Amino acid sequence: MSAATEAGGAWTERYAASLMNVFGPPKLVLARGRGARVWDVDGREYVDLLAGIAVNALGHAHPRLVAAVTEQLSTLGHVSNFFATEPQVRLAERLGALLTAPMAEPLETRVFFTNSGAEANEAAFKLTRRTGRTKVVVTEGGFHGRTMGALALTSKQAYREPFEPLPGDVVFVPYGDAAALEAAVDGATAAVLVEPVQGEAGVVVPPAGYLPAAQRIAHDHGALLWLDEVQTGVGRTGAWFAHQHPDLVDAPVTPDVVTLAKGLAGGVPIGACIATGGTGKLFDPGNHGTTFGGNPVAAAAALAVLDTIEDDGLLARAATTGRRLTDGVADPRVTEVRGSGLLIGIDLVEPKAAEVVAAAQDAGFIVNAATPERVRLAPPLVLADADVTAFLDAWPGILDAAGVGAGERPA
Ligand SMILES: *Cc1c(COP(=O)(O)O)cnc(C)c1O
Repeated sequence: MSAATEAGGAWTERYAASLMNVFGPPKLVLARGRGARVWDVDGREYVDLLAGIAVNALGHAHPRLVAAVTEQLSTLGHVSNFFATEPQVRLAERLGALLTAPMAEPLETRVFFTNSGAEANEAAFKLTRRTGRTKVVVTEGGFHGRTMGALALTSKQAYREPFEPLPGDVVFVPYGDAAALEAAVDGATAAVLVEPVQGEAGVVVPPAGYLPAAQRIAHDHGALLWLDEVQTGVGRTGAWFAHQHPDLVDAPVTPDVVTLAKGLAGGVPIGACIATGGTGKLFDPGNHGTTFGGNPVAAAAALAVLDTIEDDGLLARAATTGRRLTDGVADPRVTEVRGSGLLIGIDLVEPKAAEVVAAAQDAGFIVNAATPERVRLAPPLVLADADVTAFLDAWPGILDAAGVGAGERPA
């Protein structure tokens, strides 16, 4: 072991002795970042193709984000929700405008800001109770967060089981299956909750008719259509919202509730629960609350992210960079590449995603194992063409080093 690797090792030991063990050992101890590059405490450089799990939309240390946060924090950092601030109001208006832009007659919108995706979903879950109904229909493989309410809506048994009983009246149906939704939704249903693309499940894309069908089924029964765009929203798929992406839906979708978080403020913690029409008025004063949610620093950060995506053409860039990556990772050891824009799932011929993550890291690239057989890429929207080339050049060697398909590879 060189002296260089010892710094990371020492921090990892201190981490294990001081932090709760819920995430397993950290893969790296990171010290700084710039654009799509990060450096560990031993000075080693990586191309970050995960972006803090689809969060760092503008990469690391983007000058506009740094300036917006610095300026706002130097002006007014926090006030609580006894008071309003300009960035908070501007951001709520802006999100409403982006959400309703494709509508022939834009609906009114109302926003509740939070600090995370789980909290955005908690707010939405509570909002659904204000319909007077309690049943929520959700999808198998869906992920909505780790708080008790969000967990109740999340299907993974390993996450749920240690914490049962969870809030009830949640019904699970297979994802992407409109007939299953049709059978499950009834007059007692408060909401249908779906991700437009399932992120944590490994980037699972439903048929293009699924979201329009989900909307029709929900509305036929007087239930709300609630889309969890925590991972897919804010440009990730190449559209502002995945449910607006022409490749992902074959007809317009007008959700009643949309939840956002991850990429919204480019790494500054924030979440948002946006509701349209009358749904946005279901909460009465006192029904919900938060100390930090909507604070001006997070709101200013989000406004800087939205401005930069718009000014720098990052929706189009996500689409073209995504296509290059999607086409470029094709390999006999890859069975399928799914996703949209810069949310990409790569299916391997055998469950060696963890080995691929380790081999990629050795080669200087950060990627993620969403499931044992699915590698996920969710890089910054600003990923440079040269970094894409470097990764695609390295990819076959990464699969070699991970031993993927070693036994069955043609000579
Ligand atoms: C990450 C994620 C969440 C949870 O967000 P946190 O900020 O981790 O609480 C909820 N829904 C989806 C679709 C996610 O990808």
